[in-house]
Amino acid sequence: MEIRKAAEAAGSGAPTAVQLEAINALAKARLNGEQVYVFSVRLCDDQMDRDHERFDPRALGKLAKLFIGKTGILDHKWSAGNQVARIFETQVVQEEGISYIKAWAYIRRGGANEEIIADIEAGIKKEVSVGCAMGRSVCSVCGSEYGTCGHVKGEVYDGQVCCAILQEPVDAYEFSFVAVPAQREAGVLKGLGSGQRTLKELAEEFGAQAEYRALFKEAELGRRYQKELEDSVVRLGLTLELGVTEPVLRNLAKRAAAEDLLALKEALEARVNEMLPVCTQLGGRVGKQEMLESGFLV
Ligand SMILES: [Zn+2]
Repeated sequence: MEIRKAAEAAGSGAPTAVQLEAINALAKARLNGEQVYVFSVRLCDDQMDRDHERFDPRALGKLAKLFIGKTGILDHKWSAGNQVARIFETQVVQEEGISYIKAWAYIRRGGANEEIIADIEAGIKKEVSVGCAMGRSVCSVCGSEYGTCGHVKGEVYDGQVCCAILQEPVDAYEFSFVAVPAQREAGVLKGLGSGQRTLKELAEEFGAQAEYRALFKEAELGRRYQKELEDSVVRLGLTLELGVTEPVLRNLAKRAAAEDLLALKEALEARVNEMLPVCTQLGGRVGKQEMLESGFLV
């Protein structure tokens, strides 16, 4: 999935000798210290953002490397829409319990770029938006692939706000200066381009959230019913002393389709009935009640 986040740039000035070396490793023509202006950009961090997403701190190192050599462009609102800056160095910084990627970028001095440099110095071009592609997002509550478990980011479960943890960096794209802070919201673009879209994203885009939620609830109910069936089959298998261990029974039950499990459960119940009449009447009743409660009795 493609991710775009807000970031911040801070002015710096002339490059150090080491920085100049790194810049020249990327530049087409050799540059001297007077020809470039250096500034830093705070890219992604591991804190939950307003989209209830955060980068996995373990992913930041690889992502930081992917940003080296990437260019900075101006927002379309600005007249010169060409590439103006380039990242030549990145590092993962840990500060007050927060990990973030700090990038160093340079701009060639002269011409229209002087105006941009002046804006960075004045703190006007502080807002930056960065893009990258991440391979996975995981639910912070249960660790499942986000979108497969029923937890919704931004909602609270047992006092914990659910968020999507972004993992497995695939690529880093250019960063762009955002003209006005109000653009921040607009700069947060997701799911564009080659990234795979989730059903949830599509539902959001086409205003079908209510239907999506309803389906999700039903699916959750279905999973619960399946789990109950599994438990019943395992319990019955053990009661009948089939000579198969619990893990084996559980494994088989997990892989079986709901109809097959239901048939097996009924057959095992009938068998238990023959052997232990008192016990099973109870078992049978509980079973039916389970089905009624789950709403899946067709
Ligand atoms: Zn979850």
